[in-house]
Order: sequence, then structure tokens, then C-alpha cells
Amino acid sequence: MDGTEYIEKCPICGNETLHTWINEEDLNYFGKINIFTSLCYTCGFRHVDVIFLENRGHVKITFVASGEEDLKVRVIRSSNASIYVDEIGVSIEPVMDGESFVSNVEGLLFRILGIMKQLLRDADDNARSLIYEKMKKIARMRHGKDKLTIIIDDPTGNSAILSEKAVIEYHENKNRNI
Ligand SMILES: [Zn+2]
Repeated sequence: MDGTEYIEKCPICGNETLHTWINEEDLNYFGKINIFTSLCYTCGFRHVDVIFLENRGHVKITFVASGEEDLKVRVIRSSNASIYVDEIGVSIEPVMDGESFVSNVEGLLFRILGIMKQLLRDADDNARSLIYEKMKKIARMRHGKDKLTIIIDDPTGNSAILSEKAVIEYHENKNRNI
């Protein structure tokens, strides 16, 4: 990786072996972003953080993915963003999964699948069969067979879906109106 690198104390194992790389990228319409990728050489702890250098305020992004090509569309999610997938009624909230990620639509579906597996643990029989149904639907989506609507709500404006088909709404930050 290019860009700036620094080393600090790992929050998990405490060793001074947490390497962080800062990469700047120009997303054209969305402006420039910094991606912070951290990896601890001792315990393997990984962390990603994203900062948009231009303050956009509260944004809501809606993207309808249909077909295999749309699975490759990049998705950048900050640690403060909620993601909702309409067709399966699943949301990722910052309290559940507060990690930033830079991925694509397929990677997002894979991540949702991981969350669904965790939900199986405390589910009763009814809830479990409902989760299985959703998992099957996600599998079809990952082959580009079913369309999916992704909605990202980010009060900090540090998220994006990089497609011309994505619809972006800008909201004034609440604290600006007071
Ligand atoms: Zn560590």
C-alpha cells in the first residue's frame, strides 16, 4: 500500500504493532476521501475508517441494484451510518455493527449474511425459518437474480454508493437548525 503509514498501540493486545495506512482517493462527484486501514502485526486486529474530506452534512443514499453488474458497485460506509435493505427488511445499525467498510454491493450482502448467522443463535423455530428465507433471498441477490434496494442513512455524510443510479438526498444537520 502507498500513502502515509504510522504505528501505534493496539487497543486489543496492547503491543506497539498497530500499523495504520492512510490512503487518499478522489471519488470525483463525492470529492476526496481518506481511508484508514489498520492491522496489528501481533494479534491480527483489523480496523477500517473512512473520512470524506468535504463536509456534506447528513446524507441519505438510495440505490436499486438489479443484475450482476450492479453487484460490483462500490459501497463506502462510515461507522455512523445505518444501512437498510428493503426487500429483505434487514438493517445494519451502528450499535450492532459500527465498523466502516469500503466494499461493493456483493461484499455488503456477504456482511449481512454474517449478521443473519449471528441472529440464528437466539432465534426460536419461527424466527429461524424466517432468517433462512432471508438468507436464501440474499443468495439469489448475490447472483444478480433478484433486485435489491440499499438505503444508507449517514448523519455524518461519510458514506457513498458509487453509481450514477444512486439517488442522494442532502439533509441539513439537526444541530445546524437549532
Ligand atoms: Zn494487537
